[in-house]
Amino acid sequence: MSDCLFCKIRDGKIPAAITYRDDDVVVFKDIGPKAPLHELIIPTRHIASLAEVVAGDGDILGKMMITASRRAKENGYGESGFRVVMNAGADSGQTVFHLHLHLLAGRELGWPPG
Ligand code: AMP
Ligand code: ZN
Repeated sequence: MSDCLFCKIRDGKIPAAITYRDDDVVVFKDIGPKAPLHELIIPTRHIASLAEVVAGDGDILGKMMITASRRAKENGYGESGFRVVMNAGADSGQTVFHLHLHLLAGRELGWPPG
């Protein structure tokens, strides 16, 4: 997707603070952090939204969750806690239509979310 912001970050065309990458996922710091730790986990392959996934996407969705768990623990939040959030569609607040998992930690996170 040539006009996709997160594809451009994946390809190094837009700078980002990338903290991890492998063949399947890229992780980078959110530009507007909502918690002391706020990273985004994206699939390398462009998928627009959780509303678009199909049965065959199970492996990549699992990989994103496992990556978030590992990044939380690497940052010292395995015990105190962390949250993952995936917005899907306009009402949820999704603004970038390349699938991404928010990883938030480092403060008490209110519930229910807004
Ligand atoms: P969402 O609202 O769930 O679609 O989340 C999109 C997220 O992308 C927001 O938290 C933004 O702060 C973040 N974001 C937007 N542009 C950039 C960028 N250039 N680098 C890193 N994060 C970004
Ligand atoms: Zn994309």
